[in-house]
Amino acid sequence: MNPVLTEASVITCGHPVTPALPIRVKGTMRLTVSGFGVLTGKSIVNVPVPEDSCVLVDGNPAGTEKCTHATATGGVVALLTVDGEMVLGQRGFDGTTTGVPENPEAGLIVSPEQTILTAG
Ligand SMILES: [Zn+2]
Repeated sequence: MNPVLTEASVITCGHPVTPALPIRVKGTMRLTVSGFGVLTGKSIVNVPVPEDSCVLVDGNPAGTEKCTHATATGGVVALLTVDGEMVLGQRGFDGTTTGVPENPEAGLIVSPEQTILTAG
């Protein structure tokens, strides 16, 4: 099962605070799940990371930089597009952020928060 991501999905950088304070992203209203727009390849491109959602502290220790922006690099669903745009799903989802050091295991973390719409 590969849940499609929507505006209700909880997306954080790889160094999230607990409980998660999600990165807010815009989906497409051409396809919605429970009223939330489905995320496409354009939804997570250099989007702002809320200041309080990343545990990193600038300069502590030296060289550390808090995440300020994030871009998705994975999670494209093979068999579903909306208006020609690729749709994002949980499987393979990852991304990069401006934070230093990077989380080597996960640049971006997602909890889909829906199971109604799944895709290949
Ligand atoms: Zn971070």
